[in-house]
Amino acid sequence: MAEVPVEDSRDFAAIPDAFQRLWTPHRMVYIQGGPEPHVEQCPFCRAPQLSDEEGLIVARGEHAYVLLNLFPYNSGHLLVCPYRHVATYDLATPEEVAEIGELTQIAMRVLTEVSRCDGFNIGMNQGRVAGAGVAGHLHQHIVPRWMSDANFFPIIAETKALPQLLGEVRAEVQAAWPAR
Ligand SMILES: [Zn+2]
Repeated sequence: MAEVPVEDSRDFAAIPDAFQRLWTPHRMVYIQGGPEPHVEQCPFCRAPQLSDEEGLIVARGEHAYVLLNLFPYNSGHLLVCPYRHVATYDLATPEEVAEIGELTQIAMRVLTEVSRCDGFNIGMNQGRVAGAGVAGHLHQHIVPRWMSDANFFPIIAETKALPQLLGEVRAEVQAAWPAR
């Protein structure tokens, strides 16, 4: 076996300067973990571990759950997620697909009752290229629409007028959710 050369640190030049050095060996563990974010950092893995109020959750099923979008396009914008951290719809099990569908139907009925909306946009963005904000964890958007909601705010100010606070919306939707 070849001998590994060991260098004495005193052989190296050490010239004092004005810089302070922050040594962060713990960062190496993170870097070695690879470029993918850790599952524990995924907001849709984390939310079910919180209380309904903290996680903005309105309903919990066996394989999937429903929560408010923290960055809603409209008041009452819901997301349906499987508990499992899977990226795309084709990776969902038949049980997950069935419950995501069932929860989506219930969410539509609840939102219609609570907010008297006139229509919905429902869909899944698959992959970052398709606009998925959290690309690693499948989520179905349910966006209620009103005849009057297409106002000029988003066009001129990139801002949406959201008439209700998230906490109020969450409580209202959860109260109207049918008992299982
Ligand atoms: Zn996740």
